[in-house]
Amino acid sequence: MIKSTMQDFPLNISQLVRHGRTVHADSEIITYHGPDAELQRSTFAEVGDRADQLAGALAALGVGEGDRVGTFMWNNQRHLEAYFAIPSMGAVLHTLNIRLFPEQLSYVINHAEDKVIIIDASLAPLLARVRDELTTVEHILVCDGGDADARRELGLGETLDYEESIEAQETGYAYPVVDELAAAAMCYTSGTTGNPKGVAYSQRSTYLHSMAVQTMQGVQVGEDDRILLIVPQFHANAWGMPYAAWAAGCDLVMPQQFLQAAPLADLIEKTKPTISGAVPTVLTDVLHNASDADLSSLRLVLCGGSAVPRSLMEAYDENFGVTVVQAWGMTETSPLAAIARLPKHDVGDDPYAWRVRSGRVIAGVDLRICDEEGNELPWDGEAQGEIEVRGPWITGSYYLDPTDEKFHDGWLRTGDVGSVDAKGYIQISDRSKDVIKSGGEWISSVDLENTLMGHAAVLEAAVVGVPDDRWDERPMACVVLAEGKSATAAELNDYLSDKVAKWWLPERWAFIEEVPKTSVGKFSKKDLRQAYADGDLNVEAIG
Ligand code: ADP
Repeated sequence: MIKSTMQDFPLNISQLVRHGRTVHADSEIITYHGPDAELQRSTFAEVGDRADQLAGALAALGVGEGDRVGTFMWNNQRHLEAYFAIPSMGAVLHTLNIRLFPEQLSYVINHAEDKVIIIDASLAPLLARVRDELTTVEHILVCDGGDADARRELGLGETLDYEESIEAQETGYAYPVVDELAAAAMCYTSGTTGNPKGVAYSQRSTYLHSMAVQTMQGVQVGEDDRILLIVPQFHANAWGMPYAAWAAGCDLVMPQQFLQAAPLADLIEKTKPTISGAVPTVLTDVLHNASDADLSSLRLVLCGGSAVPRSLMEAYDENFGVTVVQAWGMTETSPLAAIARLPKHDVGDDPYAWRVRSGRVIAGVDLRICDEEGNELPWDGEAQGEIEVRGPWITGSYYLDPTDEKFHDGWLRTGDVGSVDAKGYIQISDRSKDVIKSGGEWISSVDLENTLMGHAAVLEAAVVGVPDDRWDERPMACVVLAEGKSATAAELNDYLSDKVAKWWLPERWAFIEEVPKTSVGKFSKKDLRQAYADGDLNVEAIG
């Protein structure tokens, strides 16, 4: 090997932060306080100074390199300050999912051994429920919690006020140069089975992922852009967008708890973001409950976390003139791994045929599919197997967790089943735990759902496998009808019949008020299967 002449300088988040606050000092962070309140605007320079003060405050509380600091917060400016200060000082940002069940919440805080937690006062009741079980938390910094007496009422014991704590500190914190492989941030998966598992991102992985997000093949983030951050900051680091935006000088719009259709539409009309990102259920809500909003400033809405129905993309194109781009990834992949943009050649007559794919793998991520014996399958768009990935921003293990069944010769087994075509487009047909195997053959619940959601009367559709005497398992369709619309099981079955294979057609149908959702807003199939097993669904049998 010939030794290179390049400097041996570690990739550090503090470099990104320094770049943003100097080169893009005038770019803005805009926080929403509801339709009737003024927008709160700060520059990158100001937020950089406040991040310094936060680092000083945390250091004064004894937070040092490697210590974990939890955040229990909405998407807002202070949460960004934590994003910048904590990894820059060499500590570890642990974004806590505010929708975890109490036992999961105390589990992840104790497992990560969080020393300090920063919390928005409006979320205090959720943390108060588990405060007594937290074994490592020494200090809690409360945002907007009022004076000491008011904060005591929150049920969190003695706490500190965020603003007072940072005001007591100078700007110009002397950030260390941290080992690039040191943990910078951590997220726990939502733990649909068993306890949540921790993924610890490094300084290096976060830096490289942020670069990938900025690129033309990624989210394409530039200084002229403004990102509305709908995806929660606790969901895989808001898909890496805060760091990418900061590095690019792209404004960030923070919606806080105002995540319903009407306030989101108001915020978009007022701030005119160019980019956003959300799971499909949020986009469906906006489509149905704010359909006359002006969203035309958005040139790209990244959508992922679960399959994006074609009908949703078409409706955004037609109704709002807004392009929804599907992406695929997971907490374990930082998360961006694939984006379904159109190919340069041979697009054909139907661009949606590409756009409905889960994503096209991006540079920096190695991807393969394997059969049940672990043999690699061809990229022919046909062969179905488990997707495996590896690369500099893909986790190689779980935090303090020896289980290795999720890894295969250094590759992460994603638990997603699908195919890949010759151009690197992935088509996920199911998560392995949701796979429906009927008479030994796979039925794609994702295809059935997406097709059903193309019916005008269907607001949401989730398809799960249920036990069947003859075929072992058969699909059951759970449908939420759009307001004021009606459709029978027979009509929907008929609608499906020329769009999917005959043997895929569900015999069991349940019309429900709402599909239960996971803590990050995805359909919770586990809950639907349980409801079926418990006899809680009103199931209609046809066929
Ligand atoms: P959780 O495990 O709580 O759902 P993650 O966001 O980490 O949280 O979930 C990642 C999973 O989401 C992927 O493994 C995949 O099953 C699913 N997913 C993500 N993007 C897509 C997509 N575009 N199409 C289908 N499934 C997706």
